[in-house]
Amino acid sequence: MIVRRIALSCFRNYEFESTEFDAGTNVICGRNAQGKTNLLEAVYMLSTGRSFRTRFDRELISFGADGADILAEVSSHGREQSVNLRMSQGRPKRILVNSVKKTAGELSETVNTVLFCPDDLNLIKEGAAVRRRLMDNAICQIRPRYAEILSDFNKLLENKTRILKDWRDKPALLDTLDDFSDGLARASAQLIRYRAAFALRLSEAAAPIHRDFSDGLEELSIRYKTVSSVKDPFASAREIYYDICEHQERHREAELESAQCLTGAHKDDLDIDINGQSARAFASQGQTRTAALSLKLAEREIFLRETGEYPVLLLDDVLSELDGKRQAFVLNRIGGGQTLITCCEDEGISRKTGGRVIFVEGGRIR
Ligand code: ATP
Ligand code: MG
Repeated sequence: MIVRRIALSCFRNYEFESTEFDAGTNVICGRNAQGKTNLLEAVYMLSTGRSFRTRFDRELISFGADGADILAEVSSHGREQSVNLRMSQGRPKRILVNSVKKTAGELSETVNTVLFCPDDLNLIKEGAAVRRRLMDNAICQIRPRYAEILSDFNKLLENKTRILKDWRDKPALLDTLDDFSDGLARASAQLIRYRAAFALRLSEAAAPIHRDFSDGLEELSIRYKTVSSVKDPFASAREIYYDICEHQERHREAELESAQCLTGAHKDDLDIDINGQSARAFASQGQTRTAALSLKLAEREIFLRETGEYPVLLLDDVLSELDGKRQAFVLNRIGGGQTLITCCEDEGISRKTGGRVIFVEGGRIR
């Protein structure tokens, strides 16, 4: 899929601006704080309906404006389509695909993106939340139903946590605890099945990329890890649900005591090994960067297999963080799909890849 053209009005630091994109590589250049990431953020929103930097739509609207608008022409599933997002102060956003109203989850039927930003270089060493986010962002785009379950799960988790924190002051809250626990176990069981299947595919796709990247020296393996009470994450949702309920039952007192939900999909992680050793514990700086890149490029391959089209690859500021060899590896591997790369200076990237250079200055596109 290709984003051919985008027009922004009152979006972040863009007043009224539009640009065309090349079907291959697009290098978005400019000094700091000029609007490069803002432009990438707008493209990302075409696939998910939300930003990767904020939960609040109001932050996307230019200071002092009433609403922001993103309008894009995209080529996807063999036809030209239009995607329009409108964010208004104090109102839910409106999403139109080919002038038909859609939910945020449905956007992924038209546009898919894979984002890689400097934070992702820490995918291996950081806490489990970043790896859960990797799984969630990807699965939400290939399985729209997952986005709904995840949203329900997050609400249930928030509610149950509030009960566990406040029950001493408001004992009546305990009346609803079991309902929330049950809902959480049901939603967890579904998320766990999706994530286990995705992690397997990620492992299969990332291993050959990483092998290539390390000149055949390193074997990357990824294993999905969930709460120990779940005996088999590939089992039916029903069996997983029973496993979680049983754990919840046994730890009811401990949950009340610790004011924390002790079991559920919020505990999930990916165990990542390089040559049989835990990457989180033992990998060097260079190895963790290489492994993070392999994961992101693997995500792109999974989308291709799933939808028959490469997703739009968004590289925010990562190239400058990589040494020459890794840069070359990424640039060689991104052929075939559309890529938007932000950087402070072109650094010859456009010469290596062809494509288009877009200059951004003070919210204006040249
Ligand atoms: P860097 O190279 O440092 O990453 P960048 O070009 O990626 O810079 P952006 O993150 O795109 O910069 O942000 C550019 C500017 O947009 C910032 O100066 C910020 O103040 C401004 N900005 C962010 N949100 C809004 C908004 N809602 N209204 C107006 N301006 C905004
Ligand atoms: Mg930026």
